[in-house]
Order: sequence, then structure tokens, then C-alpha cells
Amino acid sequence: MPRLTADVELCQGYGNCTTTASDVYDVDDDGKVVLLRQIIDDADRSRVEEATRSCPVNALRVLDR
Ligand code: SF4
Repeated sequence: MPRLTADVELCQGYGNCTTTASDVYDVDDDGKVVLLRQIIDDADRSRVEEATRSCPVNALRVLDR
């Protein structure tokens, strides 16, 4: 199953990712992305990849384990 990573150093807190995949990504009080899940089902992959592409600073990854 796909594994998620997020680079909080790159994240600028725009929140685009939370719009597309609010079950996976959140933004904390410091304006940094938080992973709500680190492993996703294959069925969610395309939607989560869409969320990663929406990130202006390319901070999100979907990896094969
Ligand atoms: S879209 Fe990118 S910059 Fe915006 S909150 Fe998500 S990870 Fe951070």
C-alpha cells in the first residue's frame, strides 16, 4: 500500500492539500502540514496524488513501500 511523506520545512501552509484530501492532510496551528495517515489504501492513491500535485512547494510524496 502507498506510503505518504510530507516535508514540513518546505510547507508554507497554503492548505491546498487539505482541500483535496482532508482525511489525509491537515494544517496545524503553526501553519505546517500534518499527516493524518501515513499509509493509504490503493483505492485512495489517485485522489491523494492529486492532492500532492496541488501543493505549490511540492512538499508531499506518495511512495511505494
Ligand atoms: S499544499 Fe503544500 S504548502 Fe500547502 S499545506 Fe499542503 S503541504 Fe503545505
